Amino acid sequence: MTRWACAFCGPTDGKRTKEHLWPTSLYRRVLALLDGGEQKFWVARLDKAISNEPTIRDVCAVCNNGELSRLDNYICQVFDRDFSVIRERGEKVALEYDYHLLKRWLLKMSYNSARMSGSDVPVFQPLLPYIMGQSLSAGRSVKLFLEMTYPSEIPSEEAQVGMPTTVRPVVNRVGFVGYETPTGMKLVRAVHLRSFSFLLAFLPPAASAASMRAFVEEFLSSRPAARELRASMSQVMLHCDGIDCWTSLTSGMTHRLGFK
Ligand SMILES: [Zn+2]
Repeated sequence: MTRWACAFCGPTDGKRTKEHLWPTSLYRRVLALLDGGEQKFWVARLDKAISNEPTIRDVCAVCNNGELSRLDNYICQVFDRDFSVIRERGEKVALEYDYHLLKRWLLKMSYNSARMSGSDVPVFQPLLPYIMGQSLSAGRSVKLFLEMTYPSEIPSEEAQVGMPTTVRPVVNRVGFVGYETPTGMKLVRAVHLRSFSFLLAFLPPAASAASMRAFVEEFLSSRPAARELRASMSQVMLHCDGIDCWTSLTSGMTHRLGFK
């Protein structure tokens, strides 16, 4: 068999697998949770998004069925316990997490999304040993934040007959979120698991501890409802008051499962 390069483990003559961005296990969970009012609207959009979504064929069966599927299993467990529940605005939220399993999975999703859309793939190369669980220190230049997305009213000019008048964060999405800095708007990657919006900031791998702290401070002052998740902690408390669901869905920063 010809040798080829697996996106996660490099040169191999193993079997190629074909993948959609979202693990089937998670996609099925979201579909099962949609209630009657949301069903008609979202199922059609999800089906369309999934059928239009490119697949990737650059992951070997060993990675896919081994380490990567272990990460998927972890996320499905937390999904069933926490992410499945839509939170209301102002609600107090506590999330228990395994920092590295969570961050490795979020990076895997972001890397898959980047390869599918042909965007910033090279930034993920130094992170592969981290994603694969071979080196925890290789992930330290990525800062992880959580911010909650809350249900919001659909503006009257956008409302459609027979549709709910509020939009709730019922689906999972991958995209970007902007934040203000003194030098202008910057973007961080975002993975939204229903109400839970995880934000990933990629700092230079050689960044000093002081410059990382300065970044975190600047970021949190621009997004006061967000919290940093840290390796030394296993729980975070925050209020559901971060991102307006309608704005998030329509901001054009949602690349995968594109809702236009
Ligand atoms: Zn591989």
